[in-house]
Amino acid sequence: MSKDIQELVIGIPRGMSYYGNYPFWYGFFSSLGFKIILSDPTTKQTMSDGSALVITETCLPIKIYLGHIINLINKGVKNIFVPSLQSIAPKIYNCSKIRGLPDLVRNVVKGDFNIIEPTLDKSVKNQGLYTFLKEAVLPFGITNFDEIKKASKNGWRVYNNFLVMMRSGMSYKKALKYAIEGKVLIETPENAGMINVALISHGYNIYDERACMKIFDKLEHMGVNVYTALQLTEEQMNEGITSIGVHKYWANSDEMAGASGHYIKDNKIDGIITLNAFGCGPDSLMIESITRKAKEAGKPILSLTIDEHTGEAGFITRLEAFIDMLFRKKRLKIVNHIDINEEDFIPKTNVCETALKG
Ligand code: SF4
Repeated sequence: MSKDIQELVIGIPRGMSYYGNYPFWYGFFSSLGFKIILSDPTTKQTMSDGSALVITETCLPIKIYLGHIINLINKGVKNIFVPSLQSIAPKIYNCSKIRGLPDLVRNVVKGDFNIIEPTLDKSVKNQGLYTFLKEAVLPFGITNFDEIKKASKNGWRVYNNFLVMMRSGMSYKKALKYAIEGKVLIETPENAGMINVALISHGYNIYDERACMKIFDKLEHMGVNVYTALQLTEEQMNEGITSIGVHKYWANSDEMAGASGHYIKDNKIDGIITLNAFGCGPDSLMIESITRKAKEAGKPILSLTIDEHTGEAGFITRLEAFIDMLFRKKRLKIVNHIDINEEDFIPKTNVCETALKG
């Protein structure tokens, strides 16, 4: 096929799969000589630009994603990567809104740009990763399979470095930065807080600082250590899914089920926080199952819902009340476990008595 696009420049919206897959995309495209242009971090403007294009009931992450497409168009980016991620493993499907993203973008966003939309559908024969990667770069005239394989290897290298750092307990921001810089640094987490909380959600909800209202910073400020799905191995996630008792089918729900199933059974975790976006059907069902399991296990749980109108004050109040309850619960547990010798409670009065007598 002839080379349709002259420049090796690709725009990547900072939304949806960006939060899980960007280290791979970075390694892959940069290895082939692409210049990658990212949309700017989410702002109020991004949210309102995206919200204006779809009906109110659309989930927040999709609205944000559309806002990022607008941001890239405003930056003059002509080729925007909007992958069609149908199925990530045999018979494991993405949510329909994710599967339909390229069609949605084509139909609601007006502007002078091309959608680069390779399809990944591992439930269909011959629609695996390499087919997907070949489709991604074909519009740029890249057809050499050896080069594509080499670039894919580089993508995995960057991605694996990112995962290693995440699993060591490093923050998402730092792990992403170091992985892109080609570094692997292991930081021993300070675990300064007395309370450990598992934050259960999708990457695009919790690593988008505007969408989640900097929940990591807020929890850290309250003296809380936060654990997420990205810190778990595939084995731990699979065990978690089994323990929640759902069938593996929806990729997005599995992310929530695996992490919550694991952390509900983890004794170091004092409480669970679920964060879901308003308008998300799959999550509302999953949160029911997680809440039931958490209650059975006696693990406190807080469910937060975010949308473009969520006020920060109410959000902080609910977080603070929950963390305060966890602190009190833990303090009580510690006090009740102290072996108290009755004599320890008898005040040593002899010193005062001697002084009085004297
Ligand atoms: S899983 Fe929920 S939040 Fe994610 S895209 Fe689908 S509907 Fe939106």
